[in-house]
Amino acid sequence: MSLFTSLFKHGFKPDRALVLACVAVFGFTPRFSCADSELLPNHSLAHRYPAIVSVSQPQAAEAGADILRHGGDAIDAAMAIQYALGVTEPQSSGIGGGSFILVWRAQDHSAWFIDGREAAPMATTPDQFEKLTFDQASMTGLSVGVPGTVAAFQVAHTRWGNLPFSEDLQPAIVLADQGFPLGKYVSKMLADKKFQPRLNEAARAVFMPEGRPIEAGEILVQKDLARTLKLLADNPAQFYRGEIAQAIIEAQQPSRVGPGGEGRMQIQDLLRYEVRVRKPLEGQYRGYKVLTVPSPSAGGTTLLETLGMLERFPLSDQKAGYGEVSPRTWHTLIEALRLASADRLRYLGDDKQSVLPTEKLVSGTYVKSRAALITDQVLKEVSYDSFEQEKGRNTTHFSVVDHEGNIVLVTSTIDYIWGTGMMVPGWGFFLNNELTDFNLKPEGPKLGMELAPNDAAPGRRPRSSMAPTLLLKNDLPFEGLGSPGSASIISTVLQTIVRTVDFAQPLKSAVEAPRFAQTSPRDEPSFEPGWHSDVLDGLSKVGHSLKYEGRGMGSVQGLEWSPKGQPHGVADSRRDGTVIEVAVQ
Ligand code: GLU
Repeated sequence: MSLFTSLFKHGFKPDRALVLACVAVFGFTPRFSCADSELLPNHSLAHRYPAIVSVSQPQAAEAGADILRHGGDAIDAAMAIQYALGVTEPQSSGIGGGSFILVWRAQDHSAWFIDGREAAPMATTPDQFEKLTFDQASMTGLSVGVPGTVAAFQVAHTRWGNLPFSEDLQPAIVLADQGFPLGKYVSKMLADKKFQPRLNEAARAVFMPEGRPIEAGEILVQKDLARTLKLLADNPAQFYRGEIAQAIIEAQQPSRVGPGGEGRMQIQDLLRYEVRVRKPLEGQYRGYKVLTVPSPSAGGTTLLETLGMLERFPLSDQKAGYGEVSPRTWHTLIEALRLASADRLRYLGDDKQSVLPTEKLVSGTYVKSRAALITDQVLKEVSYDSFEQEKGRNTTHFSVVDHEGNIVLVTSTIDYIWGTGMMVPGWGFFLNNELTDFNLKPEGPKLGMELAPNDAAPGRRPRSSMAPTLLLKNDLPFEGLGSPGSASIISTVLQTIVRTVDFAQPLKSAVEAPRFAQTSPRDEPSFEPGWHSDVLDGLSKVGHSLKYEGRGMGSVQGLEWSPKGQPHGVADSRRDGTVIEVAVQ
């Protein structure tokens, strides 16, 4: 069966270029002729643009591009990218983890949020991490949440995919089965002695054969993972029942730190996992509509609250003392982030399990009252505060637009580098440690309540900061982005938006510009190298306690659109970011 015949058999919806290609190649006009305009997206003929993938890793980018070249849409490409990333960038995301998928449909301008966040097993208790250090907690089965990535992509694919699921998985299967030259970023993570002890025996056999970490350019073959992917290509539901599910349960049970670290997940936890499909959070910033993620992420709410505060300051006005190289601008961002971080830590978590004041936090009246606290001086104290583990080099974000203008923005994670470091023996994938995103010590008692919004509890999803975000201008796409980096994700996405909207910078310049992160109410912003000394000196003069960060913060893979609607992809050089354009045929 030819590729085309196989595609049609599976309900492939043709576009004009393909119809013409059929005439040229096969000498026949299929029954859906160009005259059948209702079969074509209403704007597709006039506005056909290249499809684009922007991904943190080149082979995974190629996987998505290949699917687009063979008639896949943005969902198919995203699926191919995600599964390929689990092979080529396994320290950051994979089938053992969770994902947030933001979808924008060109045909009716509808937007959707697919929540594939990991869920706590039913045996979870709020105090389960209390006696463990972060390293202990995050390297044991106790921190493994029920993985959501497989189910989330399956739901997205059932709704909007064009190609058969099994075809979307082919590039990942080939990469795992036949191998690929290991990339620079992952080999750097592998060589880092700080993270090597995380790897269990099964993982060492793959990534450190004979005790030596595989180096960049060496071929990495992952036969166990290839077998798992082949089974999932037949039926992804097998992840949650049967052999694979049983292997997950067994892998998370043994403790690596004494009895306190034993995993509590049961097969019923996997069987009851549910993908949540809901509408994105919606806000405004200087005339742009901002679509972003709701609970269980705090990322979207905190971003909208901060943008709401910033809108009250003329950040681009140099005469008023602002502008890109004015310390006042960055002081304002730092202070807004400190205030919003306090609200994030106090109020946000899983809204299916507790009542959260999300609407209030982004409402005009509240945001105005928060913005009124920002002066030219550093705010002495911002309450509320609590401990949060800094993570920051993990996770991945990618962005896709297809020929029809459908957009998919995905931030996906197994939490820390290599997740728990526990590879499921015989199946070749890592288990996440996402439950360490809960409060490691319960905060309910300090607040006089049974459970604080982010205390661990059965079935609950831990609070995230991941924030895939789409900006629209006049209801049409302007910019789509997201980043890894735990709580610093919010700072990264915010700065990129401020640079493109307030300073009218192209997305690439905004992405490559040096970043700072302000992740807590405390006054300790961290700065990447490369900031203008006037900015740093000015911030110190008004009393900020600056910290400096030697390594890259975040990794933004994004898309921007010209006023005429032409998309353009941007990838971050902080990792192995890659953009591929697939021309209209
Ligand atoms: N677990 C983190 C979150 O959901 C992501 C980890 C990271 O980006 O480092 O916010």
